[in-house]
Amino acid sequence: MNINCEIARDLLPMLKDKCLSPSSEEALHEHLQSCPACRRYLHEYRARQKEDLLIPTGDFSEIARRLRNHRTVTEIAVGLSIAALAAYAVLKTIKRETV
Ligand SMILES: [Zn+2]
Repeated sequence: MNINCEIARDLLPMLKDKCLSPSSEEALHEHLQSCPACRRYLHEYRARQKEDLLIPTGDFSEIARRLRNHRTVTEIAVGLSIAALAAYAVLKTIKRETV
């Protein structure tokens, strides 16, 4: 079975996942043997796959600091909300008792 470059490139992810029928896999391998452009595409595809699996490295202290700040702001907001509700409840109770 002859396939063109477009079909070959569509099949590459399935080759990696071993989802191709034996005849499709054979056709893809035949195409790759005869097509330098698709071999290069396969090489680049595999390189991209490896890059996607790499764990990012670097300095995460800025992200950690922002997360801590965000948590602090959230805690303050929750605290103020609870205080406001408590004040409202107290005022409501006082008002009811004075009527
Ligand atoms: Zn090709």
